Amino acid sequence: MNIRAYLQRIHNHVVDMLGLRMTHFASVAERSAHVRTSSLIGLVVGAVFGLFNVLTPGMLALGLVEWAAVLVLILPAAVLARGGRYVFVCETLMLAAAAVIFGALIVLGGVEGTGMLWVYAAPFIAFFLKGQRQGWWYSVGFIAVMMAYFGVRSPEWGAVYPYSPVVVTQFLLSLCFYTVFAANMNLQRSRFEEKLHQRVHEKTQDAQKLLGQVQFLATHDTVTGLPNRTHLLEQLPIEMAAAKAAGHGLVVCTLRLERLFEMGNVLGHDGADSLVRHVAVHLSDIVQGHGLLARMRRDEFAMVYRLDTPSIRAETIGSFIAGRQFSVQEQGFSLYVELTLGLALYPDHSADPSELLSKADQAMLQAHKNAQQWSVYDAQQEQIFRRHHLLFGKLREAVLGEQLVMFFQPQICLKTGVVIGAEALVRWPDPVEGMIPPMVFIPVAEESGLIRPLTTWVIGACMRECARWHELGLMMDVSINLSAMNLLDPELLSVLQKGLMESGLQPHAVNLEITESCFMDSPKRAMEVIQCIHEAGFKLSIDDFGTGYSSLSYLKNLPIDELKIDQSFVRKLLETPGDQAIVESTITLAHNFSLQVVAEGIEDPATAQWLLAHGCDIGQGYTYAKPMPSQDLIAFAQARGVRAPHG
Ligand code: C2E
Ligand code: CA
Ligand code: CA
Repeated sequence: MNIRAYLQRIHNHVVDMLGLRMTHFASVAERSAHVRTSSLIGLVVGAVFGLFNVLTPGMLALGLVEWAAVLVLILPAAVLARGGRYVFVCETLMLAAAAVIFGALIVLGGVEGTGMLWVYAAPFIAFFLKGQRQGWWYSVGFIAVMMAYFGVRSPEWGAVYPYSPVVVTQFLLSLCFYTVFAANMNLQRSRFEEKLHQRVHEKTQDAQKLLGQVQFLATHDTVTGLPNRTHLLEQLPIEMAAAKAAGHGLVVCTLRLERLFEMGNVLGHDGADSLVRHVAVHLSDIVQGHGLLARMRRDEFAMVYRLDTPSIRAETIGSFIAGRQFSVQEQGFSLYVELTLGLALYPDHSADPSELLSKADQAMLQAHKNAQQWSVYDAQQEQIFRRHHLLFGKLREAVLGEQLVMFFQPQICLKTGVVIGAEALVRWPDPVEGMIPPMVFIPVAEESGLIRPLTTWVIGACMRECARWHELGLMMDVSINLSAMNLLDPELLSVLQKGLMESGLQPHAVNLEITESCFMDSPKRAMEVIQCIHEAGFKLSIDDFGTGYSSLSYLKNLPIDELKIDQSFVRKLLETPGDQAIVESTITLAHNFSLQVVAEGIEDPATAQWLLAHGCDIGQGYTYAKPMPSQDLIAFAQARGVRAPHG
């Protein structure tokens, strides 16, 4: 380092030490902290030495002065400084205390003149209390007073301590040195304090920035930047309160992007994200100025829309959003995004934010189930929904725990009156609800996938019972109902084969009832399974014939054996000429295809008579018997008679 720079450094240091370019001034809080520190030290030191001097012979006057300064000046300064008030007064009190005590020490000399040594603390106190710039005034002022005192002092003044001129000179020089030293120390201390403040400030700012980011991430979706579920649930009560005050309603709408997962497979993760962003922009445009939009899950948004204009109703919003086309050009694909919407209203449906959202979700599921674009929450639907969910868990236990039972309803040959078979109808005996009918739990089983284990169990149980009838010489067939999902099950055939093996039954004694809906969803796959079942020797029957909408072409293409006319045409047959026409032509149609015809739902002998007269082959219904346990069926068949073993 060259001399110039060195001198410059010294110059800078001196300027700083003199406090000439101070930028950081102690705050009121810092100043009162300084008073607190110095007053605490002052109290202890003053009180201890005051006591010591009072008890030391010849030092009473000094001790009393010290005690007086402690009680009158330092103690009030300490008390006031604790409250952080009157900082200037506190500082003045402390400086006054220093002046009084140090003045007394100089004048009275303490023990053999050693009181003088304490006075070196004066500049440290002055700089500590009054800062870098003002500290000089007090310190230099104090030295000036000392000098003046030593100049005018006279031995005749009584209690004055007789310092020698050498001691006085040394003392005053030392005091000057300590003043510079104190200024330097205070500069270091205040620089350190300033740096510390600065670092703390920087770190606090960093932490606040990070906290802001964390808060944003916790309340927003990173892909779209939209509020997330947590944020929406915080905002919804505010929107509700505002709507209540303004006297209008809100509509909470959940929107699901259909087939996003599949589209993600084609577009990749980034493509799917860009698609979601695109939809977010469209939806934001709709809700702009009218409410809020949030992203709830990967494929789900939620919108809160204020119904603040009389012309706007939930339905308007539902059909408006559903009517918007969201087609997106992505990686050369033109994708059409379908939205399914569920709407719930505040205050009509709920005043609780999360309940409102869950009701909108229910409405959305309902819309999805009914293949609609949108639907409004319906309390009745919720009952069904809840029951379904309740049943899900219970049914699982019942199916896997084999708690279901089979009932059988006899099928009668209309010509001979004998029992030729029985339809197996499953029942669920529940200890609380009694016998739960299949109409209630079969749809639940179908939705939950439980229909597979259920049908497996039904097939096994029915074949076992049928084999038992045969062993008793009662040659009756068993008809088993299959659901559409069963026909898509690759395991179905092996389950049937296993049933045959375990029961020793012949496949032609087993009639599988399927409905037209079974081959509406995946006709090709269903046809293949049906073909395999036929080739394995099982009989096939079309149940509820006449209620479906499918074409009749399957009659010619499918290897079926029997048509079951739906009971809706049979039950009021005699009073309804329209039903008679349908039943009559169905019988003719079936016979033309060489199929057997079963009429179910026969509730009186006259209907049975009519059906016999019109060529129907088999009858089933309450007029003969209601579904019953296997044991009762055996008794029924034994009483009524069955066809001959080789008939
Ligand atoms: P389905 O196959 O059409 O069964 C006929 C239904 O009509 C039975 O109701 C039966 O008790 C009832 N029934 C029979 N005769 C008469 C009558 O004269 N009058 C009236 N009013 N009703 C009559 P259930 O047992 O409640 O079964 C309802 C539906 O549940 C069945 O309709 C069938 O679709 C389904 N189901 C029953 N058991 C099974 C099963 O094991 N598997 C599958 N997948 N579905 C089953
Ligand atoms: Ca049936
Ligand atoms: Ca039926």
